[in-house]
Amino acid sequence: MPSDTNLHDAAADPDTAWQADVRAGVRHVRDLASLPLSPAERAAAQVAAANHKVRIPKAYLDLIDWNDPADPIRAQVIPSPGELEEADGELDDPIADHEFSPVPRLTHRHADRVLLFPTYQCAVYCRFCFRKESLTSIGRGYTREALEPALAYISDHPEIREVILTGGDPLSLPDKALAEILARIEAIPHVRLLRIHTRVPVALPSRITSGLVAALQGRLMVTVVTHFNHAREITSATEMACRTLRHAGFVLLNQSVLLKGVNDTVEVLEELCRELMYRLGVKPYYLHHGDLARGMAHRRTTIAQGQALAGALRARLSGICNPVYVLDLPEGGGKVPIGPCYVEARDGENWRLRGPDGEVRDYTEIVGE
Ligand SMILES: *Cc1c(COP(=O)(O)O)cnc(C)c1O
Ligand code: SF4
Repeated sequence: MPSDTNLHDAAADPDTAWQADVRAGVRHVRDLASLPLSPAERAAAQVAAANHKVRIPKAYLDLIDWNDPADPIRAQVIPSPGELEEADGELDDPIADHEFSPVPRLTHRHADRVLLFPTYQCAVYCRFCFRKESLTSIGRGYTREALEPALAYISDHPEIREVILTGGDPLSLPDKALAEILARIEAIPHVRLLRIHTRVPVALPSRITSGLVAALQGRLMVTVVTHFNHAREITSATEMACRTLRHAGFVLLNQSVLLKGVNDTVEVLEELCRELMYRLGVKPYYLHHGDLARGMAHRRTTIAQGQALAGALRARLSGICNPVYVLDLPEGGGKVPIGPCYVEARDGENWRLRGPDGEVRDYTEIVGE
């Protein structure tokens, strides 16, 4: 129980501490005025905010080293002049969420799983977001009514086994809304697993409260897919948040986006993957090649660079610490693993394979009739 003296201290109450964290952070572009930005960043922020909102909780803002203009946390959330330069071929909807959307707030591309968008709002807005166009043009939060057609669609499609709450950030919703959504999904008997794709454990770890966990516990297997991009995002607060989620029985996975100037070196990725698994108990799942989101050419690497990084990680990290390097194809083609290929050649049952030491060896298949 809180003592009388801190009854009114929001930060001392876990159920409201996160709200204080949001309030003390950057909520509007005008809140950037108090930060030591470069004149170029300041000018870019005014323009960029019209296309993609600016929002940074205090906990995440505090991770920025303002003495380093190339700080990897700063690069993820502070608009940069590069963002204003759109390249030919960049897209509003890089992975065609809209084209595969049979009803509002749902995308169905793979038979057994759907994306459900309970909200188009986030606790933090990442400059590289591949859904930033939807977040700006749709932008709406959760209402019960808005999800009805999507829930009816899931009910009518018995092949759907996984429902992936994404957005927007589902964990930016109040506990009550989450409990309500969960109850509706649990009532659909063919759904087996609920996935939550979220940056909240990274950017607003104080939001991971016992109330939030209780809202998500029930009949379904729950997997929380976090989005850490750099080991500097791993702190005692994020560690506590992940421990709370693990202790609740949820499976924790992480997806990262490969971003030039943030995590495009083998040392940074290696440390990130190790700390995710060994400190947070979060298995690195995907390393995404940068999508064709508008104004993000300055953060994209080449695929060849990504393959070299994925190959180096494969050689250095254990199997469980290794993510799969994937490209989400435009026009809804889906995710394709694009890591290095270890098959050098094949002639019938004879294969030439490159081992972890880089040596190429022959292997002959022997299979009974
Ligand atoms: C990424 C994605 C999924 C999830 O794919 P997994 O490979 O199972 O993680 C599901 N549906 C859509 C439309 C997606 O883009
Ligand atoms: S939290 Fe996710 S959906 Fe929201 S801005 Fe960041 S990457 Fe985009």
